Amino acid sequence: MNCPKQLRNGPCGGVRENGNCEVEPDMPCVWVQAWEGSQRMRADTSILKVQKPVDQSLRDTSAWLRVTAERAASQDEKP
Ligand code: SF4
Repeated sequence: MNCPKQLRNGPCGGVRENGNCEVEPDMPCVWVQAWEGSQRMRADTSILKVQKPVDQSLRDTSAWLRVTAERAASQDEKP
C-alpha cells in the first residue's frame, strides 16, 4: 500500500481534482486507482470490506520475523 497516510479504508479528504494524492502531488491517489480497478471487477465487493487500522506499534518491525517467532513458540508448546 503506497498511501503516505497508510489509510486502509478509502481516500482521505485531500484527493486532488485530477485524482492525485495531496501528499505526493505527482502520484495518483492509490484509493482512486483502487476504486477504478474495483469497478472493472465483476460482482466483486471486496473493496467495501472494512480493514483494521494499521498498528503503528509494529512500525519498523518485521512481520516475517514475528510470524516465524510465533510459529516457533507454538511448536515449543506442543507435547
Ligand atoms: S490522497 Fe489518497 S494516497 Fe494521498 S494520502 Fe490521501 S488517501 Fe492517501
